Amino acid sequence: MKFCTTKNRNTQISFLGAVAKGIPDDGGLYTPSVIPLMEPSFFNNLKEMDFKRIAFRISDTLFSDEIPKETIYDIVDNCFDFEVPLVKLSSNISVLELFHGPTLAFKDFGARFMAGVLSYISQKENTKRVILAATSGDTGSAVANGFLNTPGIEVILLYPSKKVSKIQEQQLTTLGQNITALEVNGTFDDCQRLVKEAFACSELTGKIKLTSANSINVARLIPQSFYYHYAFSRISDAKNGVVFAVPSGNLGNLTGGLIAKRMGLPVHKYIAALNSNDIFSNYLKTGLFSPKPSVNTISNAMDVGNPSNFQRITHLFDNKLSQTRDVIFSDSYSDENTFKAIKEMYNKYSYLADPHGSVAYLAIKDFMKTAQRDYSYILLETAHPAKFFETVFKASGVSPEMPERLKSCLDKEKQSVIISSDFNDFKEFLLKSV
Ligand SMILES: *Cc1c(COP(=O)(O)O)cnc(C)c1O
Repeated sequence: MKFCTTKNRNTQISFLGAVAKGIPDDGGLYTPSVIPLMEPSFFNNLKEMDFKRIAFRISDTLFSDEIPKETIYDIVDNCFDFEVPLVKLSSNISVLELFHGPTLAFKDFGARFMAGVLSYISQKENTKRVILAATSGDTGSAVANGFLNTPGIEVILLYPSKKVSKIQEQQLTTLGQNITALEVNGTFDDCQRLVKEAFACSELTGKIKLTSANSINVARLIPQSFYYHYAFSRISDAKNGVVFAVPSGNLGNLTGGLIAKRMGLPVHKYIAALNSNDIFSNYLKTGLFSPKPSVNTISNAMDVGNPSNFQRITHLFDNKLSQTRDVIFSDSYSDENTFKAIKEMYNKYSYLADPHGSVAYLAIKDFMKTAQRDYSYILLETAHPAKFFETVFKASGVSPEMPERLKSCLDKEKQSVIISSDFNDFKEFLLKSV
């Protein structure tokens, strides 16, 4: 599979090339230049395949010209070693639980797959790599977990000080080994900027083999298309079409869904559910993309003021607003309503959702008001409710059950390095420590 950049359709780079480089030099993002259609036999047999089989078939179709089949098989087998349940809420709404991985959020899908691909690359090259990841909460721990103890790989996480939940912070700062957590005095957007500046700094890139691990890396993006195929195939009575509701921030999960559709999955519509960081819904309404500083919300993994995958989406739709609107519906929801939605979902369906999934629930209710048909809705639940214990407890009056792997990291001692949001400090840190 070949990739180009969002700035230039004529550049051509292999999958492994794009994974290793992370971000192209032209200021755009790597993005598929052509998305291959899966064969009809794939779609005909979807129902009979388990999640790993689906993931393997897609990966094999996309990457077998670059990665040996056995390696692809091993990567898939190691990555997706957890359940992906589809839980029925009502006759027409199901919840796809994407939080059964090691860090209890959907980021595990992409992060583990990328770790698998990158460790294949570094084995082949025999060089040390430094992975940089800015995180608004969940990316960091998912990435770090994927790479924990991988020989030849150092991971540096940047997170905004006091802007992630206590649990998220514990998950980020207690891993040790080859993982360092940088606590940045600034916002998530500052963290993302620092990473971008590091890649643009030739003094750094001349000395260190830097690799990015945000949703901007294509090895994280592609596996986020797998579960759309899986969930779609598990809906038995979708006569009127399937609508996916995606709690969105950097729009990487949504882009994974759009890629699945381009592979031939007949999804009717995607709902990009946003909290009050409403840049993307404003774009669909007005045609204007106006990034602004992110605001803090209770669904903090979606607090993004300049969604990085926006470029890929406009590239996919060739900048055509009306075609984008045909496929994506988007709106933004306040914390107050998200709070109420957690309670409503619990009262109505006995389902305890996290704040991100609850935003998607609000968007589904909204979409239904004007929907032409009785669609089947699949809500992507992106985090375990226990990761947002206080909010969920306050909203519902119910304590989410703490999974064992979360409990154990809460007792460990936090280890972070505090830095300012000034690039020179970050650069100095990198040059000194790597
Ligand atoms: C990262 C994250 C999101 C947003 O996903 P994007 O791909 O950035 O749009 C939603 N929910 C949770 C729990 C997340 O961690």
